[in-house]
Amino acid sequence: MKMTFPHMGNPIIYKKLIELLGHEIVCPNKPTKKTIELGVKHSPEFACFPMKAIMGTYIESLERGADVIVTSGGHGPCRAGFYGEVHKKILNNMGYDVEFIVFDSIHKDFKGFMKNMMKLVKHSSLLKVYKSFRLVYKITKDIDYFEKIIQTKRAYEINKGECSKALQEIISLYDKVQDHKELEKIKKTSEYIVDNIPIKYVEEDHKIRIGIVGEIYVVMESSVNMKIEEVLASLGCEVRRSHYLSDWAEHNIVPKIFRHDREEEILKKGEPYIEVQIGGHAKETLGHIVDYKEKGLDGIIHLLPFGCLPELVSQSIIPRMSREIDMPILSIALDEQSGLSNNLTRIEAFVDIIKTKKKRKIVS
Ligand code: SF4
Repeated sequence: MKMTFPHMGNPIIYKKLIELLGHEIVCPNKPTKKTIELGVKHSPEFACFPMKAIMGTYIESLERGADVIVTSGGHGPCRAGFYGEVHKKILNNMGYDVEFIVFDSIHKDFKGFMKNMMKLVKHSSLLKVYKSFRLVYKITKDIDYFEKIIQTKRAYEINKGECSKALQEIISLYDKVQDHKELEKIKKTSEYIVDNIPIKYVEEDHKIRIGIVGEIYVVMESSVNMKIEEVLASLGCEVRRSHYLSDWAEHNIVPKIFRHDREEEILKKGEPYIEVQIGGHAKETLGHIVDYKEKGLDGIIHLLPFGCLPELVSQSIIPRMSREIDMPILSIALDEQSGLSNNLTRIEAFVDIIKTKKKRKIVS
C-alpha cells in the first residue's frame, strides 16, 4: 500500500505523519501547469478550481505508484464533501484501482474519523500513534511559527530570495526529525537561520501589512496563487495569511478543553456578516478581515477559486464590508487561466493605493 494526499502548502507534515505510522508514501509533487491541465482535462467543467487542480495531483501520484489517497472532506453547501467520491469515480473510470480515506472533522463525525484512523494506524501501537501525532503537531506549530517570521521579514530582505531559501532549509531540517529531542535542536538551528537573514531597516510608520484571506487551498498553495506572498513581499509588503495547518489541526482534531481555538474567535468575528456556516471558509474569510482590521493591517487580498460557491457569497458582501470598516480589499478569482501577468497590474495598483493612503495619514 502506497499512500498519497493532495499537495496544499507544505506537504512534509502529512508525509511525516503517514511515514511515522509506518506506511510507504508517494509524496505529491508541487502542482505545475501540466498538473493543472491534466486535472482540468479529467474533471467536470462546473467543478471548482481546487477540485480540478487536486485531480491533476492525484493522477500524477497514482502514475508514480500510489494506490491509497488520504484527504479531508467538507460540509455545508461547499462541494468538497462530495469530492472524495467524485475523484474516486473518475479515477476508477480512468482505470486506476485506488482506495480513498476521507477525513472529516473529529467533532462533526467522531465515528467516521475513528474508522479512518484505524485504517491509518493498523500497524502501530497506541503509544506510537500518540507519540507520532504529538511530534507531527509540534512540527506543524514550529513550521508555521517560522513561516510567519519569514512572511514578515521577506518584505525587507536585502538579498532577493534569501527568505524563501531559508524557509526551504528549515523545512528540510524538520523533514528529518524523528523525536522530540531532535525537535528542540532543530528549532534552535532554525531560530539561528531566521535571525541571520540580513534585512533593511524600515520605519514602523512606513511598513505595509497585507492580509491574505479566502478559500484554504488557494490561500495555502503557492503554485496556484501566483506565489502571491512573494509578489507582495517584492512590493515591500509584509504578509499575514488566514490559514495555517496548525490552526486547522487545532480546530478540527484537538479536543476543545485542550485548545485555544483561534478559528472559533474568527468565526465569531464573521458572524455579523454571515450568520450561519455556509460551508468552505466563507465565514472565516469575513471574520479574518475584521480581525486584520483590529490588528491594524493596511489592506486585504481576497483569493477565491473560480466555481467556489461559499467564496462567491463572501465576495458579494465584501464591498459593503470594505466601506463599513474602511479597509481596502482586492478580490482575485483564480482558475487554470490565471497567471501573474493577468493580475500583477491590479496588485501593484492596489499596493500603490494603500501606500498613498498611508502617506496621507502620516502627513495629516
Ligand atoms: S470551498 Fe469552494 S473551492 Fe473549496 S472545495 Fe468548497 S466549493 Fe470548492
